[in-house]
Amino acid sequence: MATLGNPKETIAVLNKYGFIFQKKFGQNFLIDEHVLEKIIRAAEITKDDCVLEIGPGIGTMTQYLCESAGKVIAVEVDKNLIPILTEDTLAAYDNVKVINSDVLKLDLKKLAEEENGGKPIKVVANLPYYITTPIIMGLFEAKVPLSSVTVMVQKEVAERMQAAPGSKDYGALSLAVQYYAKPYLAANVPPNCFMPRPNVGSAVIRLTLHENPPVEVTDEKLLFRIIRASFAQRRKTLVNGLTNSQELSFSKEEVAQALKSCAFPDAVRGEALTLQEFAQLSDALAVSGSFGKN
Ligand code: SAM
Repeated sequence: MATLGNPKETIAVLNKYGFIFQKKFGQNFLIDEHVLEKIIRAAEITKDDCVLEIGPGIGTMTQYLCESAGKVIAVEVDKNLIPILTEDTLAAYDNVKVINSDVLKLDLKKLAEEENGGKPIKVVANLPYYITTPIIMGLFEAKVPLSSVTVMVQKEVAERMQAAPGSKDYGALSLAVQYYAKPYLAANVPPNCFMPRPNVGSAVIRLTLHENPPVEVTDEKLLFRIIRASFAQRRKTLVNGLTNSQELSFSKEEVAQALKSCAFPDAVRGEALTLQEFAQLSDALAVSGSFGKN
């Protein structure tokens, strides 16, 4: 069994199986031991952990996870990688289960409950960048029992996740992620740590789930509709953004009245409001009588 984590072994495995990279699956395999060690350290994996890895590739990080976790569930969409994983790179481990599926089509809540008896799992992945947001929001919104999500993402996406109000990176993703978790940027990773090299910079971000959301709202769905609508047209004031939205059906007067009741300026923009302030606005609009569209 090859011990992966360097260019030489990766090339040997790829050649042995005649593997051809598929761009459509966002395949950029890690070839740097230091980065792999950093990810495992950031995720604080112990033998008590059940880890879900999304997109194991040829199993490079999976080997590290199998060494440090109690159990690893690896979900890979590309069927050409399955024999490499099961017959070769992961064959020596009895604590791993490989599932050939599109992760976005799996019931991850059910999977996590079945595999870890309802206890929170950890997600660790070098994500396929074309579906970063749907994967992360899918995990949160489906209420998968999670303790943390430690993932390699595009550097700009990591910056958006941890951005604060007023910064250019602050937006719907910052608020959505920070509603569920506390972000921590564990490492910046340059393109030469991957094969093939991506044409963007990458970063490892750890999202530690809140036990309870940092704000309480009467209608969580309404809060997220308001957040999305507020940033859909960034340059617009909130009054215009919220009244033009397809997802909401508030009148200009209702929005103006809600802003006033929260003591926010008439011409305030979404980028100026904190999560707490969005929650305040959501509750003010929830009682204004005209609810969001379904
Ligand atoms: N973990 C490996 C590594 O670090 O070397 C590979 C990471 S690569 C960036 C992303 C992996 O996700 C690829 O193996 C790709 O085939 C897989 N993938 C892409 N879309 C997927 C999906 N919808 N469901 C599951 N896996 C997917």
